[in-house]
Amino acid sequence: MSVRVGISGIRRQWGGAERQGVNSAYVRSVVEAGGIPFILPPAIGATHAMGALDGLDALLLSGGEDLDPSWYGTAASPDLGEVDRERDLFELALFAAARQRGMPILGICRGIQLINVALGGTLWQDLPAERPSAIEHDRRDARSVRTHGVSVERGTRMAVTLGLTELAVNSFHHQGIRDLASPLRASAWAGDGLIEAVEGDDGAPWLMAVQWHPEEMFADVAAPERGLFRALVEAVPPSY
Ligand code: MN
Repeated sequence: MSVRVGISGIRRQWGGAERQGVNSAYVRSVVEAGGIPFILPPAIGATHAMGALDGLDALLLSGGEDLDPSWYGTAASPDLGEVDRERDLFELALFAAARQRGMPILGICRGIQLINVALGGTLWQDLPAERPSAIEHDRRDARSVRTHGVSVERGTRMAVTLGLTELAVNSFHHQGIRDLASPLRASAWAGDGLIEAVEGDDGAPWLMAVQWHPEEMFADVAAPERGLFRALVEAVPPSY
């Protein structure tokens, strides 16, 4: 059985044109895990978010811009980065539609933030300004360089999926989870206490999300992050 994974896309000015798509690392990670990636551009819009999931089996919410803080009832801080309300609206609708269908969902970076906000949580709009720490979360290293440690709680779905409880991760994000949405359980933290992974209840549709960028490890066959994409694909119930 083939597993079709929808990946939420980004829009960017590139080479003089607006383009909508995703970083190759996301599609390669899904392919490596045995899934078939389908890119879902934000232009689809909230109205057609439910229909966009027809024929798909799982959803991957990808990284990108900051979320507009108005979705969680907060005024914009001067340190807020670029936002894309069209993309926000599409992904909030996409997340709600996927939950309604009981689809497995994996959130990455902006994806963990979007899931937290969609379920009633809030974000730090800029970690260095609002939550100073000795750990630099927005590194400018090459994208697959592991720069800070993460501790995973034993017994969580995340610990089982990664197969370990301590790892170093690549980190480039300036926002993060502030108040955790109550339907979520935190399953991993950085050394400064920042939440780095969340998961849903065992009884609810399969949901996992991380603040770092597991997709950038696609070329490393030994990366524990491969387990995340495999778990997403394997969470899809067989249709026969
Ligand atoms: Mn981090």
